[in-house]
Amino acid sequence: MTRATSQLLAHAADGGRITADEALRLYTDAPLHALGEAADAVRGRRYPDNIATYIIDRNINYTNVCVTACKFCAFYRAPKHEEGWTHDLEEILRRCAEAVDLGATQIMLQGGHSPELGMDWYEATFAAIKQQFPQLVLHSLGASEVVHISRTSNLDFATVISRLKQAGLDSFAGAGAEILVRRPRTAIAPLKESGEIWLEVMETAHGLGIESTATFMMGTGETNAERIEHLRMIRDVQDRTGGFRSFIPWTYQPENNHLRGKTQATSLEYLRMIAVARLFFDNVNHLQGSWLTTGKDIGQLTLHFGADDLGSVMLEENVVSSAGARHRSNRGELIDLIRGAGRVPAQRDTLYRHLVVHEDPAHDPVDDRVHSHFASTALNLLPAAAAS
Ligand code: SF4
Repeated sequence: MTRATSQLLAHAADGGRITADEALRLYTDAPLHALGEAADAVRGRRYPDNIATYIIDRNINYTNVCVTACKFCAFYRAPKHEEGWTHDLEEILRRCAEAVDLGATQIMLQGGHSPELGMDWYEATFAAIKQQFPQLVLHSLGASEVVHISRTSNLDFATVISRLKQAGLDSFAGAGAEILVRRPRTAIAPLKESGEIWLEVMETAHGLGIESTATFMMGTGETNAERIEHLRMIRDVQDRTGGFRSFIPWTYQPENNHLRGKTQATSLEYLRMIAVARLFFDNVNHLQGSWLTTGKDIGQLTLHFGADDLGSVMLEENVVSSAGARHRSNRGELIDLIRGAGRVPAQRDTLYRHLVVHEDPAHDPVDDRVHSHFASTALNLLPAAAAS
């Protein structure tokens, strides 16, 4: 390691702000172990209780009908396609009831951009869920859905967000960010809103009291500099709003989509991204490692590279799994992964408050029913459809 790189790492490990150029230098040049150590030092200072968290939630993919046709997406079907489907309210409520029964605290409603679904549909759906399950946090939709509803119903962004909030939305998921930088975003999602619009919607939401997370899908052909530019765009907004609770990078899944996996991020690139994100985002509290797209071993390693959260057991997920994510987990396994990394596991809620701290392995939950159910697995939770 050159002296300049080592000094820069020490500066970042001490909590000093680094520029995008410096982050790029660390991403490309810093030795892997030193990079991980520096990020872990920052993580340890932020969370001296040594706790790493997970959440129990359920994705409900309410429709696969979508007009946006992203090239990396294996989930969507064009309007009028014979395999298109949209769940009715009864089915959505049934899935919420199952989630509650399994101890979920959060619902992520995520779906395609169906021309049939406008403001009224979202308001009615959110209001019905909140009325029947007031204990469930609706951490759902995101900037892309706001843009879609705004087009479908001819409303401005602030009105869409305010009406969703009024209907029961608690916070936005950070999906749809993919990569915010213009060149690679246009290459993989030419019909999606620009990165600048994605950020504008999130900034508007934060101003209206709806916080969110921010995500990054790595590995669709972006350059290293574009990866870091994605982080910079988010950090600039965060400096103004403070509304991003967490940063969640994950890797593009190559199956069944138009990109055909010609490019992919490696596990080491993913770990480097986790570490650099922890060093670069001095203004974002939480960093989530993905076991879903990178596997449980890499998921566990992220806890040594700056991550403080492993996300969700995911009682249901269909979008990423449609594109080839084969990894499954359950509550006991996530607890074991966290404990195996030398951390104290804790179940959290959407606001990252600790609900259950698993201090003693003798009292870990056993034989629970809380495990992943995806479209391509045995679907005892999802009897209704092969693709949903
Ligand atoms: S990623 Fe979302 S917006 Fe893009 S095609 Fe798939 S469902 Fe539609």
